[in-house]
Amino acid sequence: MPNPQLTINSRSVSFAPGQTILEVARENGIDIPTLCYLKDCTPTGACRMCMVEVKGARSLLAACATPAAEGMDIQTESPKVIGSRKLNLELLLASGEHNCIVCEANGACQLQALAYKYGVETVRFEGRTTNYPIEDNNPLIVRDFSKCILCGRCVQACNEVQVNKAIGYGYRGAKSKIVTSGDRPYNQSDCVFCGQCVQVCPTGALTEKKAKGMGRAWEMQKVRTTCPYCGVGCQIWLHVKDGRIVKTSAVEDAEPNKGRLCVKGRFGYDFIYSEDRLTTPLIREGEGFREASWDEALDLVASKFKQIIAESGPDALAGVSCARSINEDSYNMQKLFRAVIGTNNIDHCART
Ligand code: SF4
Ligand code: SF4
Ligand code: SF4
Repeated sequence: MPNPQLTINSRSVSFAPGQTILEVARENGIDIPTLCYLKDCTPTGACRMCMVEVKGARSLLAACATPAAEGMDIQTESPKVIGSRKLNLELLLASGEHNCIVCEANGACQLQALAYKYGVETVRFEGRTTNYPIEDNNPLIVRDFSKCILCGRCVQACNEVQVNKAIGYGYRGAKSKIVTSGDRPYNQSDCVFCGQCVQVCPTGALTEKKAKGMGRAWEMQKVRTTCPYCGVGCQIWLHVKDGRIVKTSAVEDAEPNKGRLCVKGRFGYDFIYSEDRLTTPLIREGEGFREASWDEALDLVASKFKQIIAESGPDALAGVSCARSINEDSYNMQKLFRAVIGTNNIDHCART
């Protein structure tokens, strides 16, 4: 049976039953702006940016939460739609404190980008902004409630993507706020500092503390790499300015992590700049160590191995492979011990 059809901006497209208007539009290269939509999560329709005009409907409909239906005639950029989006943006801007010049999100903020796109130059309303203080008492995440548009993406990222269930909506009306259990700071809550909420926040309400003042989005080069911490192999972007990592983010739609990271991959990148890091092999001499070349260190290890095998047999040796190694390295390690050295004494350390 052929797929059902509908019309978007006078273009006829087919869709799979169960898809929303937003999914059909994006699949066909038609941009409908969103602030609250988070792929693969339950649509909330909270931000009202994706409103579209559907012929015959009594009001504008939220594309993210409206199922596509056979024969629908949809306009995504009609004057009525644009008017609604402009008004919505004004209201969002009026409900917070938005000084883009000094905001960490400047250049990467979706609210700013949409205000620019729709030409929102002045805000006609005086909002009742909350005066919750900035939460800055942990080393990793800054929460600035004055820039929060209550889109709920952080809540979905925490509860549906990472399933940490550390945050939710709190209070009512103009006092509404994203809260942890008991409205405690992140560092006294169930938060595990995976930073997923920061990655999905469309504004400057949640930002990486270590990246503060380190560079603007347009100054940074993105370099894709594999997280060095464990064998899972999560795909990450390094945001690099002048050769220095400013922050990391997860690569969306890439296996195996599909846009997720844990606290180590998200925030643990700066160990490479630690002064305590060993960068050359050390050979013990007496009570201390001296620096050596790799060739000298490896020759020494090989000669010691040979000596032990000659004196006590191969079972006198044992290997412990790092659980953070990739599978291929662990395979080579067991091959070295079993096939070359001749012992089954091979294990790996517990993953941390
Ligand atoms: S959150 Fe966005 S709109 Fe608000 S000040 Fe920051 S950059 Fe500007
Ligand atoms: S850092 Fe992770 S656990 Fe903490 S609130 Fe954000 S998403 Fe939830
Ligand atoms: S903190 Fe960010 S992601 Fe969470 S509700 Fe506010 S604006 Fe949305």
